[in-house]
Amino acid sequence: MSEANDNNRDQVKAERHQQRQQKVKEAVDAKVASAQDERGVLMVITGNGKGKSTAGFGTLTRAVGHGKSAAAVQFIKGGWECGERNLLQKVGVPFVVMNTGFTWETQNREQDIIACEKTWLPAEKMLADPSIDIVLLDELTYMVAYHYLDLDRVLTALKNRPPHQHVIITGRGCHRSIIELADTVSEIQSVKHAFEAGVKAQPGFDY
Ligand code: ATP
Ligand code: MG
Repeated sequence: MSEANDNNRDQVKAERHQQRQQKVKEAVDAKVASAQDERGVLMVITGNGKGKSTAGFGTLTRAVGHGKSAAAVQFIKGGWECGERNLLQKVGVPFVVMNTGFTWETQNREQDIIACEKTWLPAEKMLADPSIDIVLLDELTYMVAYHYLDLDRVLTALKNRPPHQHVIITGRGCHRSIIELADTVSEIQSVKHAFEAGVKAQPGFDY
């Protein structure tokens, strides 16, 4: 085939590509133009894969970086040291921590319910406080799944929160009513995890 033919084919390809990209740009621009609401978003990060809490804390860090006021509540994991908590507390982010460690370690349902209630009360206050721009409810899903916490109480607090307030809920097996109420839901799937190959949980990477 001649060089002139090759050049011609390349030019047609380039033009087609340009036309396709123009169409993509028009569609994206139209979507951006029609998304004009500015309000608090309820986000759920669920699923069995790794990265739920880190995504939650990452969003909190992002908010703090914009000068927003953020607060965090950690259900279940009180017994664990937490790198994000060490850092964010230093810049004034209030934390409420359920101090029972993992529930499958305590094996005491009554004690867990009391600890959950003690953790939920300040969380409820945060969800009613218009001075807080973003609240992370880390591992809240288990409190609902184990019936430690009344689902309607959670839904009511979420629905009645200040309109500008963002909320992030993390944890596996999120109740469908919370998923229905949420604006943004991501399910993180596990493809593989180092733990299955014998790598232990390491500070600065896993917590
Ligand atoms: P991370 O805190 O790293 O974002 P996560 O919030 O998605 O993880 P959790 O279900 O809260 O995960 O579990 C917390 C701990 O369990 C972390 O140390 C994490 O590395 C580990 N983990 C998370 N997913 C898996 C998995 N699929 N297999 C084994 N261990 C996991
Ligand atoms: Mg987590």
